Amino acid sequence: MRNLMTYLVLSSTILFVSACQKEAPEQAAPSSTSAQAAQHAPADAVPGSHEDWCGEHQVPESMCTRCNPSLVAAFKATGDWCEAHGLPKSQCLTCDPTLKIERPPQKKGH
Ligand SMILES: [Zn+2]
Ligand SMILES: [Zn+2]
Repeated sequence: MRNLMTYLVLSSTILFVSACQKEAPEQAAPSSTSAQAAQHAPADAVPGSHEDWCGEHQVPESMCTRCNPSLVAAFKATGDWCEAHGLPKSQCLTCDPTLKIERPPQKKGH
């Protein structure tokens, strides 16, 4: 019985130590999944609002063809499409480096 207890204590100590060693580097550099989640708009964000923003691509999330490829057809239909770069012309910084897509300001006074 005593041997079993020692074994349990030892194995749980080893688990604890290895868990700590595993977690340490993740704390220093946040995992890409959590960083991405913070950069993208929540599913219930209102289009055109401050929350509706894709931090990864610096465009409104509701207009981000890189996050939502189903939007491509709509941009092509309105002629707002850069075939060369696979982006809406209104978002193609390669064709127009002066292009500035500003994030809508956060609403205040709720
Ligand atoms: Zn995006
Ligand atoms: Zn382009």
